[in-house]
Amino acid sequence: MFNQNLSDTIAAISTPIGESGIGIVRISGKEALSIADKIFISKDGKKPSSFKTYTTHYGWIINPSSVVRPPSSVTEYGIQNTQYAIIDEVILTVMRAPKSYTKEDIVEINCHGGIVPLRKVLELVLENGARLAEPGEFTKRAFLNGRIDLTQAEAVLEIIRAKTEQALKMGVEQLSGCLSNKINSLRNELLDLLTILEANIDFPQEEIASVDLKELREKLEKIYSQLKNLLVNSEKGRILREGIHVVICGKPNVGKSSTLNALLKQERSIVTPIAGTTRDTIEEMIDIKGIPVRIVDTAGIIEPSDLIEKKALQRSKKQIALADLVILLFDGSRRLEKEDWLLIRKLRRKQILAVINKIDLKQKIEKEKLLKEFNHLIEISAKRFKNINLLEEAIANLVYEGKLSSQEPIWVNNLRHILALKEAKKFVAQSKEALDNNLSLEFIAYDIRTALDSLDKLLGKRFSEDLLDKIFEEFCIGK
Ligand code: GDP
Repeated sequence: MFNQNLSDTIAAISTPIGESGIGIVRISGKEALSIADKIFISKDGKKPSSFKTYTTHYGWIINPSSVVRPPSSVTEYGIQNTQYAIIDEVILTVMRAPKSYTKEDIVEINCHGGIVPLRKVLELVLENGARLAEPGEFTKRAFLNGRIDLTQAEAVLEIIRAKTEQALKMGVEQLSGCLSNKINSLRNELLDLLTILEANIDFPQEEIASVDLKELREKLEKIYSQLKNLLVNSEKGRILREGIHVVICGKPNVGKSSTLNALLKQERSIVTPIAGTTRDTIEEMIDIKGIPVRIVDTAGIIEPSDLIEKKALQRSKKQIALADLVILLFDGSRRLEKEDWLLIRKLRRKQILAVINKIDLKQKIEKEKLLKEFNHLIEISAKRFKNINLLEEAIANLVYEGKLSSQEPIWVNNLRHILALKEAKKFVAQSKEALDNNLSLEFIAYDIRTALDSLDKLLGKRFSEDLLDKIFEEFCIGK
């Protein structure tokens, strides 16, 4: 549930659970330093509350409630004067408010990356005054404390989840505030217009500069075209972020599994000469020229012979319905058969890439017949890895519709942002229309205010608990 309480101190393990060189326990809040004072002994004997910001210190995490030896003991590792049980040897970093990720005091403890040391250290931190953080709560605090806006908080998630270099680049740009700056400047322009309009509406008789309608029209036009530019390529951006859904279809034994494997460049689905080996769908995520592609190898069942096959066929149909693109495979070493034609007919409404496989064998397929159905045929040999690059290029080209080379910047890739910008654009268009139709200033002001609201929601200047819940529940704990 939404937790807007900023007065307590939160803590979590910020690295994945499992064996690793280092694991990090992160503490944020007013008590972060005093908790660290209680459980950390530095080599030079100083307390974390005396450390300068952005400094790291070598030392030990101890359990202050567990005395194990006389106070003056010195161990062979040089741990001096501790009578307490030592939990782990660590590096501790202090980042003081307000210049920290959350704008609060932060302490990060680099422990050894095993489950036990990390759990033990976290337990000690919790026993000494912190509360376990919810998923994304550190980033939520950065947002609630005003260090970043909502688009930047979302960018953190984009970066963590990036499946391709392009998606990562967009996330980093968004986090640096490129998108927020653009939207903030549009927002300020709209706000200026609204202030003048409202002054004229509220005090029409007073000595306020009256609205210059021509200038207002020009400014609205400019804002409108800027909103439009932000939305250009947003669909492409969405694909770069979420990926496309590609399904491989074809009659049994045409080489669907082999093609998936060739694309994966590794063995994943079983390839055998027995027709119908792939009884069910197999799914993989691959990166084709920067596009995340979810690729599914279907069972290739056309006429189910038993209940299992019937179920598999149903699943294939579902995958096909969801697909953005279908790779329809034909066996080049055989003449076209009834099943090929059946698939061509069934898939008529889908975006299809027609591919002839097994070009390493003697070709019997009637290419001229296929060319009447499809403008373009790609010829490959999945088994011999021939022309797989052509197949990859064709997939990428279809996604980008040949526009990739123009390198237009993509500003928006997140559906929430796209919808908010579309709404702002709609109301700015409406305000222009109201102006053209000589409607009263109230109407124009209403449209501008609504457009402004959409931009405020986008930036998180206004937000509902539900929205924050929805955004931050997708984060991992410790971020
Ligand atoms: P699926 O049933 O459509 O998934 O087909 P498979 O990928 O299991 O392949 C069926 C058979 O065709 C296997 O024996 C593969 O080795 C063979 N095969 C697949 N692609 C090629 C190819 O490009 N050339 C040749 N000669 N054989 C292939």
